[in-house]
Amino acid sequence: MKFANKLQNLRVLIFGGTSGLGFAVAEGAIELGAKVFISGSNQEKLDKTVQRLKESCPDAPEDVIGTYVCDLSKEDELDANIKTLLASVTDDGKEKLNHIVFTAGDDFQPNPIATADLAKFRQNQVVRLVAPIMIAKHLPQYMEQSADSSFTLTSGAAVEKPQPGSALLIAAGAAVEGLSRGLAVDLAPIRVNCVAPGAIMTELFARRVTPEREEMFKKLTKVGRLGKPEDTAEAYLYAMKDGFLTGSIIKTHGGWLL
Ligand code: NAP
Repeated sequence: MKFANKLQNLRVLIFGGTSGLGFAVAEGAIELGAKVFISGSNQEKLDKTVQRLKESCPDAPEDVIGTYVCDLSKEDELDANIKTLLASVTDDGKEKLNHIVFTAGDDFQPNPIATADLAKFRQNQVVRLVAPIMIAKHLPQYMEQSADSSFTLTSGAAVEKPQPGSALLIAAGAAVEGLSRGLAVDLAPIRVNCVAPGAIMTELFARRVTPEREEMFKKLTKVGRLGKPEDTAEAYLYAMKDGFLTGSIIKTHGGWLL
């Protein structure tokens, strides 16, 4: 089973695993036999997520899911908190991680260019951009130093097709893509890639997008529907499994960019 067992018994840490894309990646990784650690900003939601994962993967062994609470929006504490988290997950580096997936993203504040507010711009980048930087800073100590290891970040297809009023959000997404390419060089042999999803029906999407815009996004695809989290999860699982993939942006948007 050269292909189906590629994640068997590997250790996968997912920032943002309590919801949306990250939750689907957790489901997929568990189905493929990995041990999964999920991180989110509050323990209650993490506990509920463990229950959801157990319901979704009833045959998984009891100890296959670990949880770690870490609020990634506290910029001043990120450096120390990320180090503590990585040390806890790995028993101080003795049980090294094989893969890290980053899908965490908070409810950004609208910040159109005409009323650009630099404080908002900076705050909008803390979870999506600054947190992955701090993870990259510390991960070499806590991951297997091998091309079989990977760190996968998240941007968005809108980086290539901005919607009106989104310039400052796009700037942050484009920075994540640039960061992932730079890290592919600096963290080698650990592989670093980035997934750029189109419109995916997650909790975030349901919260932020009106029914009219949902219809618009469906029409803009070539497949006539929104993406499902389990569609997009395949991109992250692929990034873990292809030992020759690094510095790549994986685009999964149902043809929206065509
Ligand atoms: P989601 O369902 O809202 O999930 C976001 C995850 O981020 C949750 O697990 C949440 O966990 C975590 N998170 C939020 N604030 C956090 C904080 N302060 N500290 C730690 N974790 C935090 O969103 P999604 O749709 O899966 O999106 C994931 C990423 O993909 C986001 O960056 C989003 O912008 C991007 N994206 C999404 C789409 C789409 O259509 N869905 C398209 C392109 C790009 P807790 O609530 O437990 O903290």
